[in-house]
Amino acid sequence: MGTTASAALVRIPAVEEGRRPRVLIVGGGFAGLHASLALAKLPVDITVIDRRNHHTFQPLLYQVALAVLSPADIATPIRSILRGYKNAEVLMDEVISFDRDQRRVTMKSGVEMEYDYLVLATGSTHSYFGNDAWAESAPGLKTIEDATEIRRRVLLAFELAERQMLETGSHPPLNFVIIGGGPTGVELAGAISDIAKLYMRHDFRHIDPAKARVLILEGGPRILAAYPEDLSQKAVQQLADLGVEVHTGAKVTDVKPGYVTVSGNRLDAVVTIWAAGVQASPLGALLGVETDRRGCVMVNDTLNPAGYPEIFICGDLAHFEQDGKQVPGVAQPAMQMGDHVAVMVNQDLKHHPRKPFRYFDKGDMATIGRLAAVANIKWPFKAHWSGFPAWMTWLTIHIYFLIGFRNRITVFFDWAWTYFTFTHGARLITGSQVLPGWAEQQGVLVAPDETPLDTASPGFRDHYRETASSLEKS
Ligand SMILES: Cc1cc2nc3c(=O)[nH]c(=O)nc-3n(C[C@H](O)[C@H](O)[C@H](O)COP(=O)(O)OP(=O)(O)OC[C@H]3O[C@@H](n4cnc5c(N)ncnc54)[C@H](O)[C@@H]3O)c2cc1C
Repeated sequence: MGTTASAALVRIPAVEEGRRPRVLIVGGGFAGLHASLALAKLPVDITVIDRRNHHTFQPLLYQVALAVLSPADIATPIRSILRGYKNAEVLMDEVISFDRDQRRVTMKSGVEMEYDYLVLATGSTHSYFGNDAWAESAPGLKTIEDATEIRRRVLLAFELAERQMLETGSHPPLNFVIIGGGPTGVELAGAISDIAKLYMRHDFRHIDPAKARVLILEGGPRILAAYPEDLSQKAVQQLADLGVEVHTGAKVTDVKPGYVTVSGNRLDAVVTIWAAGVQASPLGALLGVETDRRGCVMVNDTLNPAGYPEIFICGDLAHFEQDGKQVPGVAQPAMQMGDHVAVMVNQDLKHHPRKPFRYFDKGDMATIGRLAAVANIKWPFKAHWSGFPAWMTWLTIHIYFLIGFRNRITVFFDWAWTYFTFTHGARLITGSQVLPGWAEQQGVLVAPDETPLDTASPGFRDHYRETASSLEKS
């Protein structure tokens, strides 16, 4: 797929009849937003439908999860992004079904809408490889809600450890386990290590957050498998410098509150995060056209499912092949596909043949922690960078691509503040104060010699000494 030459003219009924085409864009992510902003400049009427009212800049979600940034720094209302375009409207609703023959979509609210063009860009979601029950114990990171839940769990673990140390003189080991060694897993691990070892180290009196263990469990032979091997190795080195343990070939066979089973062994986990698998949004399958095993819709070189030139599939939901390889589900292809849809609709309007889509790959980068990153640069020159140059490049590019002037400014200042003062700005625990799995911890209690005795109360000191001696005996 993605290789069929399609220089033929496409005839869309609305265009033939001289009507102004109605374009429904489902999904206000990278692909949907780029399509909307480019299509809004054409003589068409646009409706953007998203089940959330905001566009989320997913590459910075982990910074919300680890309390560097606030949710509003990385999310912008779709309505305000499209405010300046009178031919664009926004509907907050969830598409649940399609009638391809009648060119109509139905939404959860019951509203039905007809279209001349449909742009489907509903992205991807977590895949627990059939073990959906694991989601409760190991949340993934995809939305603002996921990020604030992870933030809650991580920060709560330190609070509970401090309280338990005060009460009993010991606490379960602070093991933070990340399942999956792709870019998201690596970013999360580095950021948890940073928060524990750098930003919170002076904030507690009874525990030492720097003693927390951060582990990446990767089932494959190496982390960052989509990157060149030398950059994978550089990432492992940089993670080791941050104190993150990387375990490759580590097959997780069970995830329960408080622990995971890996290669047959129980590993206590005060917080477990899932970063191991993604699958396409279920809307791909609902469309009733050919999909791949992850549910991505097979598209031709003009981003259409076979036989439906009025339907465009963009971003993570599209299975588009170029030069024999599937284009990856990352932000750049999503944005370029969105832009290209507008190019093709414009060609239809002018009765010109559609230009096939071609992905222009500028490279990939993953951040690892403070001053640590890897970058596989493919444009405007080829290079493999790691450490500070890669981190600076990552920083600059992410600021540049953030939507909204305000967000760019606030994120820049938040980062600068964090960098120079070693403090984090959004360390808020909201919602429940129950940490799933806290009670199920069975690991050896953290050794009392890690406790700053001189700051403890006399009663606590006695209790602490008793625990210390009983631990020594055992
Ligand atoms: C934690 C994380 C970190 C990442 N880091 C990077 C990175 O560093 N670099 C990079 O290039 N890529 C990164 N990615 C990948 C990148 O974010 C995605 O490839 C990109 O967001 C895909 O864009 P999209 O428009 O296809 O989907 P999305 O951006 O996911 O947008 C899909 C939209 O569809 C909406 N939607 C879904 N279902 C429905 C429905 N039924 N009805 C209405 N609306 C619906 C959703 O609410 C959402 O707004 C990261 C992804 C994650 C999750």
